[in-house]
Amino acid sequence: MNSKTEKRIALISVHGDPAIEIGKEEAGGQNVYVRQVGEALSHLGWEVDMFSRRVSADQETIVKHNSQCRTIRLTSGPVEFVPRDQGFQYLREFVDQLLEFQKENEIKYKLVHSNYWLSSWVGMQLKQKQGSKQVHTYHSLGIVKYNSLKSIPPVASDRLRVEKQVLETAERIVATSPQEYEHMRSLVSQKGEIEIIPCGTDIHRFGSVDRETARKLLKIDPEAKVVLYVGRFDPRKGIETLVRAVRQSQFYGSEKLQLIIGGGSTPGNSDGRERDRIEGIVRELGMTACTILPGRLSQEILPTYYAAADVCVVPSHYEPFGLVAIEAMASGTPVVASDVGGLQFTVVNEKTGLLVPPQDIPAFSKAIDRILTNPQWREELGQAGQNRVKDRFSWDGVASQLDALYTQILTPTAKEPVLVAK
Ligand code: UDP
Repeated sequence: MNSKTEKRIALISVHGDPAIEIGKEEAGGQNVYVRQVGEALSHLGWEVDMFSRRVSADQETIVKHNSQCRTIRLTSGPVEFVPRDQGFQYLREFVDQLLEFQKENEIKYKLVHSNYWLSSWVGMQLKQKQGSKQVHTYHSLGIVKYNSLKSIPPVASDRLRVEKQVLETAERIVATSPQEYEHMRSLVSQKGEIEIIPCGTDIHRFGSVDRETARKLLKIDPEAKVVLYVGRFDPRKGIETLVRAVRQSQFYGSEKLQLIIGGGSTPGNSDGRERDRIEGIVRELGMTACTILPGRLSQEILPTYYAAADVCVVPSHYEPFGLVAIEAMASGTPVVASDVGGLQFTVVNEKTGLLVPPQDIPAFSKAIDRILTNPQWREELGQAGQNRVKDRFSWDGVASQLDALYTQILTPTAKEPVLVAK
């Protein structure tokens, strides 16, 4: 492919707007992934349009990230936040709007990369209606998620059906870890083409601050023992496990111990309710003096928080990939994580951090203390983590793997006859 117009792609992320603030309800890893992939692809010469659903009247319709990469917001359903489990009913309108946008702008996307099952349905419609080729990233697999839930939402049957259909029909599925690949094969379908390309992180930004400077900036005692959580307030994230584990730490009761729980929330929404619940547990356990909840941490300040921490904890019950783990590692901070999903791929047990069974409070407590009691080992784990991320999880590396995949998909093969005008 050498003509510029051929390197055009639509990234579809119906509920994960790549241009909004990250770290609030339902805005997390997927938004970061789409935005970073989009920008990195544009640097490789792609014209990138990222489509998302408009959720507020104040939002601009088009946000330009650079001359070749933009977010385009389509109006489908009410112009307000809609939880993702209620989004399926608005997808038909989303497809119509996308087709209309193409018509108005005289564009046709030959290639779409959909993100999360809702967008996969949109991608399948474009494939059906205009022969677009489809690449899909799940970000979360319904069947795995539902296995870890007590009650299953009404949308489950649609989700499972769509997730199977896209696996069997897309030109390629991107699994972000070997664990996700295994889940697809064992739990969804044996059919379909899957390639493993991980998520990435900004190895220049994370790791740009040293610990001493970070602690000065955040006014944290150089001698403090800092345990950090970063992420959304969602029961699946296991923040309760972390709080209870810190309460059992051998450092609990010393003035040096500090627990920082970073993440945004909106009062009254589901993340606001989870934050209230967590604060309730903190109070009940008498931990208010050693616990800080700074709210949403911007992507600009995050490297400073990671660098200031002795250990970053990712206590999720289930985690398809877990960007926070590689962000912490890129910052030279060891990770204690649940031994699940993508975390088993990113965190190397005893080398870049520790993996422990999900929801196992004593095991988390012990793992945190092993790192807090051994500063020399902490440095070694941190260094090994940083090296691992540089080698395997830079956005530039991820984007060049995607670039190769897209190029291969768009290049006509012998099996697909090319129509040549006589
Ligand atoms: N994040 C952020 N500010 C916050 C909390 C989270 O920018 O206050 C970002 C975090 O840096 C990471 C993403 O949100 O890039 C969370 O991604 P992850 O894959 O860990 O979890 P998900 O949200 O996809 O479940």
